[in-house]
Amino acid sequence: MKELSARDERALRFAASELRRVLRALSIGDLANRIRLDLVGGTQSGYGRDLRADGFAIVPEAGEYRILSRCVRGLVYGAYGFLEWLGCRWYFPGSDGEYLPPRPASPPDHAVIENPDTPYRSVVAFWDRTGPQRQQRIRENLEFAVRSRYNRFYLHWPQGLRSAHRLAWEHGHGLDIGVKLHTARQLLPARLFSSHPEWFRFSDGKRRRDYNLCVSNPQAVAQVSRNSEKLATSLEVDITDLAYWQGDVPNAWCQCPSCIGLSPSEQNLRLMKAILKGVRAVHPRGRVSYLAYYATVAPPQSAGIPKGIFLEFAPHAACYRHRLDDPECPKNAPLVRALRQNLERFGIESARVFEYWLDLALFSSYRSPVRRMPLMPERMSRDVGFYRGLGLAEIENVQWMPPAEAAGSPEVANPGYALLPRLLWNPRQDLAGFLRGFSRNFYGSELASGVLDLVVRADRVNPRYICTPEDRGDGPREAALLLKQAVARCQELEGAVEGRHRERLAGLRGALHYDLTRAQAGEA
Ligand SMILES: [Zn+2]
Ligand SMILES: [Zn+2]
Repeated sequence: MKELSARDERALRFAASELRRVLRALSIGDLANRIRLDLVGGTQSGYGRDLRADGFAIVPEAGEYRILSRCVRGLVYGAYGFLEWLGCRWYFPGSDGEYLPPRPASPPDHAVIENPDTPYRSVVAFWDRTGPQRQQRIRENLEFAVRSRYNRFYLHWPQGLRSAHRLAWEHGHGLDIGVKLHTARQLLPARLFSSHPEWFRFSDGKRRRDYNLCVSNPQAVAQVSRNSEKLATSLEVDITDLAYWQGDVPNAWCQCPSCIGLSPSEQNLRLMKAILKGVRAVHPRGRVSYLAYYATVAPPQSAGIPKGIFLEFAPHAACYRHRLDDPECPKNAPLVRALRQNLERFGIESARVFEYWLDLALFSSYRSPVRRMPLMPERMSRDVGFYRGLGLAEIENVQWMPPAEAAGSPEVANPGYALLPRLLWNPRQDLAGFLRGFSRNFYGSELASGVLDLVVRADRVNPRYICTPEDRGDGPREAALLLKQAVARCQELEGAVEGRHRERLAGLRGALHYDLTRAQAGEA
């Protein structure tokens, strides 16, 4: 075996210790002594040739099992793949999201090879609170990401970035760590406003120290380049495709006489060029993300987008009732047009999408307490297929790690957390089969999938997610009818299961009942 880095060593030890821990919990601890984790070279053996990046093979050989991959991360996935073969599942972060079967199935009796469909499968994690056991929960989220076969973990951290970053670096267990930050203000600090107001954006008759800056001012732009270099130096990352984005606000660009003729997209491109200059001084092959969302969703018009700037498309304004590529949806159709136009300008090669399917914050309208997220397996599946069909190699999803009091709550217990990474790994998932398995393992009864089917149908017509007022029509009434049935089915099932399963179903019923009362009142 070739020399491993310290981080690879740690990841490998983690994989071996997880095998031991889980097999012991399944009362078949001895099996761990008959499993070997081995790296293989590309041409060394038949398996090496069949394995792509992150892929793994499980090979039974005379009562022993070899788990093979071309990289350590693939061995970590392989260890979990072996345990999944026995019936183990990971639905959510933390021990409550782990399912271990009472009677494990037998390991495979033939060689199994698994390769990912989507090359880059990413979580963008953000968390602006400092609640109790914060470190522990970050760790649980990192472990869950590895178990779900994500390979990139981006910190989208407004506060405490450095400590979170250190933790991710230590406990990534094979994940590549990157950052996605709204840094425009950090790169031109507000303290410079009093001495250089002309560096800042002009809007409604005066210079303003918030959000973005005057991209026509050469000194402001030079300052941004210098500070980008400093920021890139201070944060060690695995992924040098960096997101140092504009201010996180719909539209706050400069309207000074020099900038007024530049669209927000054009201004953003200028800002990113300045950032790229600084980043390249630290990472010669580094790249910078152009975030297309809000006012920058249309592509910039000017010629000459540097090779180091890639497209990151965030369909923040999407309707989640319809699939993204539904030509009839008045919200999604223009977004898809903009995405295609952007791809023509920026090229497909390093473009990626920043999705919101599991953004608890978005679906809670950025307010506390958290609300139940819609259950939309078909939409996730269609969208992943659509993005892959366009040729996007990286699909990211932003996840707001819920505050401590809401972590593991029924509002957060959306099986989409486990389904989405499966779709990224293999878009051909049996969605109904997945929900049946989830129901059996998590709620203790396959019949709970009947409740989930009603929830999927209710969420499709729930006025919270539909796109136009005309479309509202019978939405609230229909949603109320379906939710009412779901609540009743849930209550019935609670009598048929026990313990934690019953508690979970009761929790689900509570969350559905809340939605029901809102729908009955005609509210979202
Ligand atoms: Zn300006
Ligand atoms: Zn729609």
